[in-house]
Amino acid sequence: MSTPAIPFKYMPSPLFTDPYADAWTVPFWEATMREQLTAPKCTNCGKFRLPPSRWCAQCHMQDLEYVDLPGTGTLYSFIIVRHALTPDQKDYVPYIPAVVDADGAPGCRFVSNIVDVEPEDVKVGMPVKVVWNRVSETLTLPFWTAA
Ligand SMILES: [Zn+2]
Repeated sequence: MSTPAIPFKYMPSPLFTDPYADAWTVPFWEATMREQLTAPKCTNCGKFRLPPSRWCAQCHMQDLEYVDLPGTGTLYSFIIVRHALTPDQKDYVPYIPAVVDADGAPGCRFVSNIVDVEPEDVKVGMPVKVVWNRVSETLTLPFWTAA
């Protein structure tokens, strides 16, 4: 088995399994396969619900729709991981877990990683844009980089 190419600098280590998708999150993962960022929005009151939940925290209704987002945002928070948690992850440090305020979805913060930016250049408040990592035929992950 060959090692897949690493498409971005400062990638986190590969996932052990694909993320679990249920009826509430399948639309998000289907959109990522088209490289489209989406977020769930309550169809009753308009509040975005991220992470997706069965019930709206604001109006307690269940119906939602997934809204296409432009794929841009602002870096809200981040950390730089410089120490590998296990020896087999030593080739994946440093990496930069991050929280991003997504444009087009007030109140939605995506948790992912910043890639292709030197760690010392990452700053809270910097504009970012989504980039896509096609992991397999069934999984594409959104990461963020400098806009
Ligand atoms: Zn609602």
